[in-house]
Amino acid sequence: MNTIPHLINGERHHSTTTLDVYNPATGQVCSQVCMGDESLVAEAVAVARAAFPAWRDTPPAKRARVMFRFKQLLEERADDICALISEEHGKTLEDAKGELQRGIENVEYACGVPELLKGDYTRNVGPNIDAWSDFQPLGVVAGITPFNFPAMVPLWMLPMAIACGNCFILKPSEKDPGASLLIAQLLEEAGLPKGVIGVVHGNKTVVDALLTHKDVKAISFVGSTPVAEYIYAQGTAHGKRVQALGGAKNHAVLMPDADLDNAVSALMGAAYGSCGERCMAISVAVCVGDAVADALIAKLEPQIRALKIGPGTQCGQDMGPVISKEHLAKIEGYIGAGVEQGAELTVDGRGLSVAGHEGGYFLGGCLFDRVTPEMSIYQEEIFGPVLCVVRVNSLEAAIELINAHEYGNGTCIFTRDGEAARLFGDEIEVGMVGINVPLPVPVSYHSFGGWKRSLFGDLAAYGPDSVRFYTRRKTITQRWPERASHQASDFAFPSM
Ligand code: NAD
Repeated sequence: MNTIPHLINGERHHSTTTLDVYNPATGQVCSQVCMGDESLVAEAVAVARAAFPAWRDTPPAKRARVMFRFKQLLEERADDICALISEEHGKTLEDAKGELQRGIENVEYACGVPELLKGDYTRNVGPNIDAWSDFQPLGVVAGITPFNFPAMVPLWMLPMAIACGNCFILKPSEKDPGASLLIAQLLEEAGLPKGVIGVVHGNKTVVDALLTHKDVKAISFVGSTPVAEYIYAQGTAHGKRVQALGGAKNHAVLMPDADLDNAVSALMGAAYGSCGERCMAISVAVCVGDAVADALIAKLEPQIRALKIGPGTQCGQDMGPVISKEHLAKIEGYIGAGVEQGAELTVDGRGLSVAGHEGGYFLGGCLFDRVTPEMSIYQEEIFGPVLCVVRVNSLEAAIELINAHEYGNGTCIFTRDGEAARLFGDEIEVGMVGINVPLPVPVSYHSFGGWKRSLFGDLAAYGPDSVRFYTRRKTITQRWPERASHQASDFAFPSM
C-alpha cells in the first residue's frame, strides 16, 4: 500500500497515524495518507521560520527563477500529476489537465514577481526628504485546501506566497492529497531551499494548530462556508491575516433572446463537468419566462441522459464519480428532499451502476424543474450533478432572486441584449460575472473572489490581490541633513 508522507525540511516524514484514501471510481482504498498533529505542525513551522530570513533576502529575480523551473517541471510531470488527481478525486483526465493548466498559469504570473514587488518612490516629499513604499514578505504563511482542486487551488496560493519571499506550509485535503504533495516536491526539485515549502497532512487538528500558532502570519483557506467562517474567526482572533474562500450557489440567467443551443452546451459543461463539484459550477438556471424554461428543459433532458459516465481515468468520459460514499449519500439526500418539497425531478440520476465499477460512487446527472427559493435544493450548496430550474418573469426578478441568496461566488447571463447584460453586470451582487460565459473564473493576472458568504476577508485569491495578501507595505521616509547643520525642534505636527 502506497503511503503519502508529509514534507518537512525537504525530507519525507512519516507518522504512525494514517487515513485511507479512496479511489472513488472503484470504492477501493488506493493509498494511505499520514496524519499530522500539533507537534508536527510546530516542527514544520520552526523549520519554515528558520528558512525565512535567507529566503526573504534572496533577490526577487532569483526567486522568480525557481518559479520558471517549477513551471517547466509541472509541464514535464503533468501526466503523473493528472493521473493522481483522476485516481484520488475521480474527475476525468481531460478535466484534470484543465485544472493543472489553470494552476500553472499562476506560476507564470509569479515569474513576474520582481516587477510586481516594485514599490512606489517619491523624491522630495519635503525639502531633501524622499519616501518610498516597499512590499515585504510576512514570514511563515499557510494554505488549507479543498478536495475538489487538489492541484489548482494549492497553485493559487503557493507560487505567489513563495515568490514574494514567504515560507509556505500546505495542508492539502486529506481526501486526495497525492497530487498536492507531488507538486510541493517539484518545487523543491526546482531549486527551492529546504524548509521554504512544507506539507503537513491532516484534518481539523492540524488546521487548528496552524490557526493558533504564533509564528504563522497568514492563512489562505479554500473550502466550504462553515469551515471558511470558522477559519476566518479563529485566524483573525489569533492575529493572522486571513482570506477564506467558501461555498457557492451559482445562477445562470437565461433571457428570452438567448442563443439557446449554445447556452445549453455551456450549461451542460458548467453544471455537470467534474460532477458539479466545482465552486463555480452552475447549479441554478433562472429562466425568464415559461417559454424559455420549457425549451431549455426539452433540450437539456436528452443531453443529461446521454452523459458518458465512468471512471475518469478512461478516455472519453463526461463525468466521473463523486468524491466519497458519504458525499454520494448527501447528494441523494438533497434529491429526495427536493422531491418531497415539491420540485419536479425531470431527470433522476440516482441508482446508476457502471459496469466493472459497481463499487464506485457514481451518480447520473439530475435535473429539477419548478424549484422555488424556500426549498433546501435551492438554498444549499449540493456540490453534485444536480441542476435546478427556477422560473421568473423578468430580468429584475432574476437579479432580485440572485441578490437575496447568501452566496455570491459566480453567476452568468445568456442574452443577445447588451443593455440587459450591462444592467445585470451593474446590479448583481456576485464577485465573478459571466456574460455568455458560463464559468467566469478569472485568469491568473486578475484575482478570484466571491462576495457575501463565499469569501471572508478583504483580498481575493491569486493575481494582484495575492501580491498584497502575501506582503505588507513598509513606507520609509529618509533625509540626509548636512553634517554641520543644526535643526531646531518643531513641536507642530510636520506638514508641507
Ligand atoms: P471542506 O470545508 O470540507 O474542507 C476544506 C479543508 O478544510 C480541507 O483541507 C479539510 O481538511 C479542512 N477542514 C474540514 N473540516 C474542517 C474543520 N471542521 N475545521 C478545520 N478544518 C477543516 O471542503 P471540501 O469538501 O474539501 O471542498 C468543497 C467545498 O469547497 C465546497 O463548499 C466548495 O464550494 C468549496 N470551494 C470553494 C472555492 C472558492 O474558491 N470559493 C473553490 C473550491 C472549493
